[in-house]
Amino acid sequence: MRIPPEFISKRALGVDASGIRKVFDLAAKMPDPINLSIGLPDFDVPETVKLAAIDAIRSGYNRYTQTQGIAPLRTRLREELSAEVGRDVGEVLITSGVSGGLLLAILATIDPGDEAIFLDPYFVMYKHLLTLAGGKPVAVDSYPDFRFHADRVERAITPRTKLLILNSPSNPTGVVMSAAEIDAAVALAKKHNLLIVSDEIYEPFLYESSGKLASASTKYENTLILRGFSKSHAMTGWRLGYAAGPAEVVAQMTKLQQYTFVCAPSPLQFAAVAAMDVEMRAAVEGYRRKRDIAFNTLSRCFEVVKPEGAFYIFPKAPDGMTASDFVAKAIENNVLIIPGNVFSERDTHFRISYATSDERLQQGCDILCKIAKG
Ligand code: PMP
Repeated sequence: MRIPPEFISKRALGVDASGIRKVFDLAAKMPDPINLSIGLPDFDVPETVKLAAIDAIRSGYNRYTQTQGIAPLRTRLREELSAEVGRDVGEVLITSGVSGGLLLAILATIDPGDEAIFLDPYFVMYKHLLTLAGGKPVAVDSYPDFRFHADRVERAITPRTKLLILNSPSNPTGVVMSAAEIDAAVALAKKHNLLIVSDEIYEPFLYESSGKLASASTKYENTLILRGFSKSHAMTGWRLGYAAGPAEVVAQMTKLQQYTFVCAPSPLQFAAVAAMDVEMRAAVEGYRRKRDIAFNTLSRCFEVVKPEGAFYIFPKAPDGMTASDFVAKAIENNVLIIPGNVFSERDTHFRISYATSDERLQQGCDILCKIAKG
């Protein structure tokens, strides 16, 4: 029996996956593309962390953990985050990736009709998870500089606004919020009684500042920090993240985790404790160099904001062309990139992930420039 269309929930149908799927369908037809589309590090999980995971499996840490995660990891994270933030950071929940943390945070706070604000361009999941929860995603345009414009954000606030989702360093723009922008965001959150959800998954990847991320958590207790190991330690497939913040919110997220994810992967939580002792600075230095290759090459032929973190750059397609047109041309020339309309209400820019070898990156950027110059 075939499943009739009306069998599928409106909730599922309300989520649109077409943008990114189109790109991956095209990619499948390319034999050996210069792939600048993938949002994951090009290094592998550090050897000591792999060994810690194997050791945990062999030692029998293969059962459910407590819903909130294992104590050694939670305690260590709470201590380190509290030292960084300058106050007790609140409760810590180990999640199945930052994705798991985002879903639980939204389910724990958003009732049907409630609104959450984030900057456009945005990490796609914000929009779709809010829709799934029956909430209203409110994307505030941040073009052309992708900065936090407090006046634009304030105009989008209504009595139904509950969350202000910040993502710094940003996917897809690589922009890092300044201390002044954080102050402005916190002032708005205080004035309008909003919970700040601070997606800091790219926190280790900072190229300009003192190496310390400006975070709303240092200025505002009603901040839920979301971080994880996917990007910092190249463990995207391990599904490990954490949420830290107000006890009332984290307690509800923990309750919801019990009935959804149950817990984050057990042996990998033990390995994450080992990961916290691994120095990743060399990897970050490598990404600074890649950022420079991408920016120095692309800025000669595209309008582009210099990224200060993460591993993305978001140039504007040449005049007279939509981003989708430009991406189609790039694919014809064997370079895989993602059109901005996957991350935005606009179809004017495209995202490059520079997490690839220096040679391929240079080659890919050169080809894109050649196309732009016609
Ligand atoms: N937030 C942002 C901004 C991301 O780019 C990603 C992954 N691409 C995530 C959250 C989710 O990461 P994960 O679930 O692997 O921790």
